[in-house]
Amino acid sequence: MQNPSSQDNLKKLTVIGGGITGLATAYLAAKAGAEVTLIEKSVHFGGLLRTFETGGEKLEFYYHHFFNHDAEINWLIRQLDIAHKLLYKQSTMGVFRDGKIYDFNSAMDLLAFRPMNFLDKIRFGLTSLFLGKVADWRNYEGVPARNWLEKWAGKSAASSLWNPMLNIKFGPYTDEVPLSWMVGRLKQRLGSRNSGGKEELGYLDGSLDVLLQALLDSLQKMGVNLMPGNALTALHVENGELKGISTEKARIEGGNFVFSLPGTHLIRFLPDNTPKLKKDLSAIKYFGALCLVLETSRPLSEIYWMNVADPGFPFGGVIEHTNFISPAHYAGKHITYLSRYFAHDDPLASMDQKEVEALMLPALKRIFPELQPDWIRDIQMFRTMTAATVCDLDFSKRVPPCKTEIKHLFLANMAHIYPDERSTNNSIRVAAETCKVLGLGAEAEKIPYGSSLSGKIGFDDT
Ligand SMILES: Cc1cc2nc3c(=O)[nH]c(=O)nc-3n(C[C@H](O)[C@H](O)[C@H](O)COP(=O)(O)OP(=O)(O)OC[C@H]3O[C@@H](n4cnc5c(N)ncnc54)[C@H](O)[C@@H]3O)c2cc1C
Repeated sequence: MQNPSSQDNLKKLTVIGGGITGLATAYLAAKAGAEVTLIEKSVHFGGLLRTFETGGEKLEFYYHHFFNHDAEINWLIRQLDIAHKLLYKQSTMGVFRDGKIYDFNSAMDLLAFRPMNFLDKIRFGLTSLFLGKVADWRNYEGVPARNWLEKWAGKSAASSLWNPMLNIKFGPYTDEVPLSWMVGRLKQRLGSRNSGGKEELGYLDGSLDVLLQALLDSLQKMGVNLMPGNALTALHVENGELKGISTEKARIEGGNFVFSLPGTHLIRFLPDNTPKLKKDLSAIKYFGALCLVLETSRPLSEIYWMNVADPGFPFGGVIEHTNFISPAHYAGKHITYLSRYFAHDDPLASMDQKEVEALMLPALKRIFPELQPDWIRDIQMFRTMTAATVCDLDFSKRVPPCKTEIKHLFLANMAHIYPDERSTNNSIRVAAETCKVLGLGAEAEKIPYGSSLSGKIGFDDT
């Protein structure tokens, strides 16, 4: 029986992967008194929260916002003394369907949404309320969301909204997405509406890089050994115990190790004497995501978040960031993300930027016929192969436990966020639960629970 709470193990912790999960784990563990080393492959920390500069301001590679009920990130922001940077703003949503842009913010907008018939509008409203407010996700793990929504929300609601949304997000895996995921998603979205029914989203003035820098400053002050530009290269497992790891620049021995890099990246470093862990991690598939970020001289619309629900478009979301955060932050530039999730065998996984532009820009003009080439001042492309885990039927049974059967080897990654949508907030929850499992929960215990469902699967029996 392993004993993660022996004094030696408690003192020394190495975290591998310097995205928000790894950074938050390092922060909470160091606050609880551990001697922490944080290993990151890239020369920059942040993972999917990384930013680039535009108009003198930092901006995320991939659009980011959070919700007003995200208690964990709000707590961390206050701990790090950056609450004065916190912005909550009303957001606007739209849907492009049957060649037309529809506002999609209120009951009145739903009534005016022509692609859905009247009866299905009522069914759509009732089923959304049921899933977001009443349903227990545990009862729907084996129920495909697509079938259930077609049956209960109605065929026109499914074909004009739900199926395109699932398709955009899960591509070839759409039929396998459990209704539990929809329960998590709708709880998140309905919970972020204010008393007037409008959705308010959170952001940090200066981008989420403000959070990353504040975390890094705090880690440095606490004496955490930060090792960027230093990829993991090997794990040394003997007799069911992780003795140490090798990285490009160091060999680290002893103590506990938390792997917060995507499981699919960890597999290749696992030695042959870890067959069960290899098998467990292989059962978790990941998606890619691609964002083409346009800087334009004028806005495309007044909508922040538009789902593209017509078939045949190479992107599923048009996210006009400067309809959320003013263009004044970016020297007057208007910024729009064209976003697409993709399976690893999709051509988008390997296309170069010119090919992606040739695919996406003509499609964008079908939505905004007035768009002129000279409006576009600059284009950036960002792509990741590990944007999210594929949460398919009965996923919870496949989530590997945080505390593995290998002594001193712990996992904390996006799979542990299920049944919620993976997010910055939920990564902090996972970091908190991981620290509790490590016996380093003194700081983690102080974090209030938000409305998220994450941080339970993989932690419940450890
Ligand atoms: C398109 C898109 C939009 C999103 N929108 C939102 C949003 O609006 N709101 C929100 O809250 N969240 C959003 N997210 C999700 C959010 O970004 C993630 O949930 C979160 O950043 C995941 O953090 P992580 O630390 O678990 O993983 P990652 O950020 O993937 O970090 C893993 C780290 O491990 C490192 N690593 C990999 N291999 C090695 C190795 N061999 N050695 C050492 N280190 C290694 C990587 O370099 C990386 O830094 C979005 C994500 C995407 C892709």
